[in-house]
Amino acid sequence: MYLVFIGPPGSGKGTQAKRLAERLGFVHLSTGDILREAVKEGTPLGLEAKKYIEEGKLVPDEVVIGIVKERLGAPDCEKGVIFDGFPRTLAQAEALDRILDELGRQLERVVEIEVSEDEVLRRLTGRRTCRNCGAMYHVIFEPPKVEGVCDKCGGPLYQREDDKEEVIRERLRVYRKDTEPLVSYYERKGILVKVEGEGPIEEVRQRLLEAIGVRR
Ligand code: AMP
Repeated sequence: MYLVFIGPPGSGKGTQAKRLAERLGFVHLSTGDILREAVKEGTPLGLEAKKYIEEGKLVPDEVVIGIVKERLGAPDCEKGVIFDGFPRTLAQAEALDRILDELGRQLERVVEIEVSEDEVLRRLTGRRTCRNCGAMYHVIFEPPKVEGVCDKCGGPLYQREDDKEEVIRERLRVYRKDTEPLVSYYERKGILVKVEGEGPIEEVRQRLLEAIGVRR
């Protein structure tokens, strides 16, 4: 089963995609995570991606398409994949169709997670991420037990450069311009489902499971 989660930054798609992939035994394919890891490691890919990420802009299509193509060729992707943060442009969506076609597979469903811009700003400006393991917290809604310290691994928490308000506004602008058109692209293909993304994480999770037709 191949699923795509689409939603603005801060819609919770990363959190939900990660949990759902664990539950279903699928690969969670987040291009944002792969790019951030490359930045952290200082690889050539990371050096190229850094400036785009920090400014809230999109990394060039050919770079992300290359990453996804390579990742999808691995055997662990055969059972299922949840794409999180990819595709983000029409060119990426068309490339994904071609790559899956070559592999003899197809997208089963695309889930759009709907969240208002006010809620996105509230969530992202308060978000803190563990520098060590990537776990996420929120200063008000989900604070760590000890301020600035990850509950899971004891690593230091930081605010992602692209979670600063100015950059969030740019990411939202890019989302509306480049990514939102994908909703009608997948609607035309008849595989789009919309899910209300506001409310407690657990409730949104139940809605998602229903939307993709998985029994609780
Ligand atoms: P995310 O964690 O999905 O919000 O991604 C963080 C940043 O990584 C984005 O703001 C982009 O700069 C970059 N990025 C992640 N996925 C893509 C993609 N599919 N296309 C272009 N840039 C991406």
